[in-house]
Amino acid sequence: MFFYLAIIILNICRLSASKELLDLGWGFDNRTIFWPGQTPLYFTKEETVYLKGFSYSFKEFCVAEHGGTHFDAPYHFHQSGWKVGDVPLSRLFAKGAFLNMEEEHLKMGRDTRLKVKDLENWETRNGKFSENSVLLVKFGRSKFWQNRTLYLDLEGETMHFPGLSKEAAQWIANSKKIIGVGVDTPSIDPGNSTDYIAHRILAENSLYNLENVKLLTDLPETGFDLVVAPMKIEEGTGAAVRIFAIVNN
Ligand SMILES: [Zn+2]
Repeated sequence: MFFYLAIIILNICRLSASKELLDLGWGFDNRTIFWPGQTPLYFTKEETVYLKGFSYSFKEFCVAEHGGTHFDAPYHFHQSGWKVGDVPLSRLFAKGAFLNMEEEHLKMGRDTRLKVKDLENWETRNGKFSENSVLLVKFGRSKFWQNRTLYLDLEGETMHFPGLSKEAAQWIANSKKIIGVGVDTPSIDPGNSTDYIAHRILAENSLYNLENVKLLTDLPETGFDLVVAPMKIEEGTGAAVRIFAIVNN
């Protein structure tokens, strides 16, 4: 008996020593950043019922699909694309790929674009992207999350945060390996985009997006798995999402 117990404990220790779990989502509260004009999360009902010896509480809420850390279904920018409830489960368990663009963003400024060259350089360092990969691009914007003006980098009505170039979006779609793209900004298109071309290209190719991903630390460029768990709003164009990275040390 003791022997079996020792084996079980040893295995648990081994698992926790070799895997690191990371939560890549921001919490939803009254400071959560939403796209301008969208409804932030608020409770429409809050009740506590007191009964003999116990009580229970419940709330109801209202929230826009595209705010906080969220998932864009292809349907968001492609009328015959998958809605949130249609995205196959196999696409929600993915291989992680990480690309750090923070230095580039510091060098190139507020309207930095991810370029094809950045993706090619990633492949030079790591080999081809794996099947069923989700590419997380860190521009270094998560550190501004607590300040909406800084995070959106507003200039009047226009936002200025980095994003994907049209060519990079097309390269990603053509790879047929990458099934989703995540960014630490409110949109995969740059803040000053008006044609949302990266959204359109990825949606037409059945890729999903993860926006406002919490990327305060670096991940390895490869060698981690992702669990992407949007709220299953069957007809949704998007939904709040939990994203977990499982890093193999
Ligand atoms: Zn969105």
